[in-house]
Amino acid sequence: MDDKKVSMAVVKRLPRYYRYLTDLLKLEVNRISSKELSEKMGITASQIRQDLNCFGGFGQQGYGYNVEILQREIGKILGMQNKFKAIIIGAGNMGNAIANYSLFAERGYSIVAIFDNNTEKVGKIINNLAVLDMNELENYIKNNRVDIAILTVPFQYTSQIAERVASLGIKGIWNFSPMDLRLSHEVKIENVHLSDSLMVLGYRMNKKIEEDKASL
Ligand code: ATP
Repeated sequence: MDDKKVSMAVVKRLPRYYRYLTDLLKLEVNRISSKELSEKMGITASQIRQDLNCFGGFGQQGYGYNVEILQREIGKILGMQNKFKAIIIGAGNMGNAIANYSLFAERGYSIVAIFDNNTEKVGKIINNLAVLDMNELENYIKNNRVDIAILTVPFQYTSQIAERVASLGIKGIWNFSPMDLRLSHEVKIENVHLSDSLMVLGYRMNKKIEEDKASL
């Protein structure tokens, strides 16, 4: 696949396709038309065809899509065959929630270690993993495969820790700290700001409140 030809807008829709196709497989649906898929997902059939054409189609005229093949191929495009391994840095509330959330493992991402610099947290068991001391970070990464660092530390420590893991060769950072992390390294970063999403919901709800007031 040529990465440059695929827009991020399309890439961002792929996990959603993957999710719907996985649900269909669970229901033992083996074949689906772009029309049916579009009704389920609430996007147009032409958008679906256009998206999937970026990767060479997968559909057959008059047959639709083979759900299993499509799910597997989208999984490959998303790199799921790499079975990426992740560590969590910051065993606070967010770190705990992520460590205990089983969906990431279902999607093929395994959490292999959790680190914290608070000695009261070191040694605590979170989802079968003992929290490790930050002093062990270098050693751990040297001796174990780690692809992704999930950062759930307070924002003032985020850049410094990100630099540290990047210099240890980690290639991906999933940042939950409330700051937009940018690094000079060749590291892929995804900033996840849950409160931004909540505030968008707040905006939409407020709009409705304002509209209802205006119509009184
Ligand atoms: P708690 O109150 O239980 O610590 P929290 O989620 O409110 O939970 P935060 O202040 O957001 O805590 O910190 C998240 C976690 O990051 C904590 O477990 C904290 O010990 C850890 N932490 C803070 N600074 C660092 C650091 N420099 N390196 C590693 N872990 C850190």
